[in-house]
Amino acid sequence: MHCAVIGAGIVGLSIGWELARSGYRVTLIDPEPATGATHAAAGMLAAVTEFHYQEQGLLGLSVPAADAWPRWARELEAASGRPTGFEACGTLVVAADGADRADLSALAEAQRTVGLGIGELGTAAAREVEPLLAPRLAGAFRAPGDARTDPRRTAAALLAALELESGVSVNRRRATGVVAGAHGPVVQTLGPDGAREDLEADEVILATGTGRTGERGGAGERISGLPASLRLPVRPVFGDVLRMRPTATAPRPAGSTVRALVSGQRVYILPRRDGEVVVGATEREDDQPGISVEGVHRLLRDALRVMPALAHYELVDLTARARPSTPDHLPLLGRIGPGLLAATGFHRHGVLLSVAAAATIRGLIGPVPGATPPRPPPASLDPTRLAPFDPWRFS
Ligand SMILES: Cc1cc2nc3c(=O)[nH]c(=O)nc-3n(C[C@H](O)[C@H](O)[C@H](O)COP(=O)(O)OP(=O)(O)OC[C@H]3O[C@@H](n4cnc5c(N)ncnc54)[C@H](O)[C@@H]3O)c2cc1C
Repeated sequence: MHCAVIGAGIVGLSIGWELARSGYRVTLIDPEPATGATHAAAGMLAAVTEFHYQEQGLLGLSVPAADAWPRWARELEAASGRPTGFEACGTLVVAADGADRADLSALAEAQRTVGLGIGELGTAAAREVEPLLAPRLAGAFRAPGDARTDPRRTAAALLAALELESGVSVNRRRATGVVAGAHGPVVQTLGPDGAREDLEADEVILATGTGRTGERGGAGERISGLPASLRLPVRPVFGDVLRMRPTATAPRPAGSTVRALVSGQRVYILPRRDGEVVVGATEREDDQPGISVEGVHRLLRDALRVMPALAHYELVDLTARARPSTPDHLPLLGRIGPGLLAATGFHRHGVLLSVAAAATIRGLIGPVPGATPPRPPPASLDPTRLAPFDPWRFS
């Protein structure tokens, strides 16, 4: 059975690897693999601290995904021979002033109400965990179960595992349409030289995000031939993110991811084992794919308020990309019709949810005929909790 995955960001690559190692023949189609939102993402695997009010629907994917990540990362590192950057690090959440503390306290209560593990720590105890925290903070909480990965390294490991294990490399073409063929769906593609090529498959998976420049409309508007009544309303929510490194004399953070609320504005500081520190991220709906001066200014101001030692770091990378977002902030994940599935609209959580997306798509396609015994899925999902992600819900 042949599966064609359109889009090789973290979601398409994870689906492709899962299908390939389950025994399917896989083709990945993407003119610029892993250069979209995946290239910008900090890589927080934060089922707890990324939970916001009104997002209960997400728990059916986010909690199994967070549980699955440690094993999945180990398997990927073994298959690819490359690091993923996965670290079980926990998250500290700190408040800059009294109003921020009240907001974070209410959010932590909401997170506990849905069964997520977060507790109040106090600022003195928080500074014992992370000595680089500023002396004047108003409150601190800790979510020990949150983890992180390095999405650029994880994507490189997925590309390597696909190549090494299954001989699959990305077909660097743009998909322009999906039409019905004599034996199943046919993906119409355009090469860099303008040459057209059709590709037959048994199952086609749309994992297109919003692309490198954050195109409005998502797959629904950019790929022709989808059902006329189907609406996949994916819109770009741009984010600016900074990467910095300590200079020779600058101290390094202890290791937890730090999230903060500073006068009502969110900022996070994510230190990696190799010294890189990621500071992010803005949320802009201004259709500007370039890096925002105002956004960078705000991130630096708030990060330095929380961790003043970062002033001695060297800024090494500024990136802006678009989160592929939907009106209800939940992904579009499921079957569109015979031979056609969607896995897009992962908004702020695509890195965390990639492993759950892979498990869902594999479950929907079913076992490879004749494969015994089937490999266990990467994440255990309750099918009754997948209804909120129905790709038809806006149609
Ligand atoms: C600043 C920022 C920080 C973030 N931080 C986090 C985080 O800490 N944790 C987390 O879980 N998530 C985070 N996210 C969200 C996460 O990055 C996204 O949800 C995730 O990358 C979505 O993955 P994707 O594969 O769907 O999309 P993308 O990574 O955008 O990949 C889509 C791919 O599809 C390809 N494509 C598009 N159209 C076509 C076509 N017609 N034919 C062929 N290929 C096509 C593109 O070239 C691209 O490679 C962050 C996002 C941003 C912007």
